[in-house]
Amino acid sequence: MNEREYPTPYFVIDEEQLTKDFSLLTDSLQASWPNYRIGYSFKTNSLPWLVTFLKAKGVMAEVVSDDEYALANRLGFSDSEIVYNGPVKKKDSFVRSLLAGGIVNMDGQRELDWLEEVCRENPDRIIAVGVRVNFNLEQCCPGQTTMGEAGGRFGFAYENGVFAKVLKRVRAIPNARIAGLHLHSSSKTRSVAVFEAIASMACRLKREFDLELSYVDLGGGYCGGLPGRPQYPDYFPAVEKVLREEFSPEETALIVEPGISLLSKATTFVTGVVDVRDIGEERYLITDGSRFNIDPTMIKTSHLFHLELGPKNGRERRTLAHQCVSGFSCMEVDRIFEYGNGPELMSGDRIIYENVGGYTMSLNPLFIQYFPDVYIRREGELLRVRRRWTPSEYVQNCMMFGEEEKI
Ligand SMILES: *Cc1c(COP(=O)(O)O)cnc(C)c1O
Repeated sequence: MNEREYPTPYFVIDEEQLTKDFSLLTDSLQASWPNYRIGYSFKTNSLPWLVTFLKAKGVMAEVVSDDEYALANRLGFSDSEIVYNGPVKKKDSFVRSLLAGGIVNMDGQRELDWLEEVCRENPDRIIAVGVRVNFNLEQCCPGQTTMGEAGGRFGFAYENGVFAKVLKRVRAIPNARIAGLHLHSSSKTRSVAVFEAIASMACRLKREFDLELSYVDLGGGYCGGLPGRPQYPDYFPAVEKVLREEFSPEETALIVEPGISLLSKATTFVTGVVDVRDIGEERYLITDGSRFNIDPTMIKTSHLFHLELGPKNGRERRTLAHQCVSGFSCMEVDRIFEYGNGPELMSGDRIIYENVGGYTMSLNPLFIQYFPDVYIRREGELLRVRRRWTPSEYVQNCMMFGEEEKI
């Protein structure tokens, strides 16, 4: 079937582009720090096809909840192939991961209690654990961090001495060992300087606390696939230079947790114009995609897109100063973008959004229209990797009136 005949809306992941971007990542890591592990960030997009594609290429699963942990297991990752992060771990999976030799980065006091307990119960085992560091990145890179002066809320704070106390507590456990530091920080700029600052913090902590680390985990937050912005080959040589002051690849692995940078360029969302209407001075285009599909957190101010114009059916296309492209939902905020100075769009035309791989599918709501189809493009052909949701999927796990469950 010709691509134009597939019913909209749908996401497409271009397998060739994804492969290329993945190779760019591994090639640049290999060149700068051959002792590396990639923990793919599940929360960014845990589409089972995507995750299993990346698993086949040797990545670990980077998860931040018990549900994601279970999903990783379900998709074939053993406990030792999971990087377990975040502040809402559950005790069962925390303990399982530690005992299996998975990578666990502690992010909260209750995990210290759990660690003490596991170590007490397994006195003949050495338990290796990582610690997530919270430090003032904004001071190193003014104006670049997501939270600015307010600072992030994850990990143990370095500046006020909490991190030092945590180290002391872990060091007091005879059979526990600090294996690594986790320094993920989100930034607005995703600049190379942010990652240099993170690497520099790892060096500083190693010196100050005399750590012997089997890994330094830089986290995610890279740019990828955007013209004029940094790419993987820009980050890792810079990081290497800083890390070399204190670390060597022979002793310390570099862990990276990419999400959006891997998927962006490969992923598009295809929508169709279903109706055109004039109200007041404004031309509205109603499309079968929604802002909820590609901007579920409602923060984007512009979109990368291209058009595929359909048959005009004898009508003339004028050039219009603005057309308001809006979504299928019945919410007024579902206006996707203002299309300026372009050909008059008509029903049957397609608007294809680019760079929509991260934080889209994973955040889509079941609002008014259910999850759309997802395809991959392989050798010019679209192959389906998720069937769109219908009311059958919507009602799964629900009880009707008269079927209430007592638990
Ligand atoms: C969100 C997140 C990532 C991935 O971030 P991207 O911006 O998608 O690269 C990696 N690690 C952790 C701990 C995260 O919370």
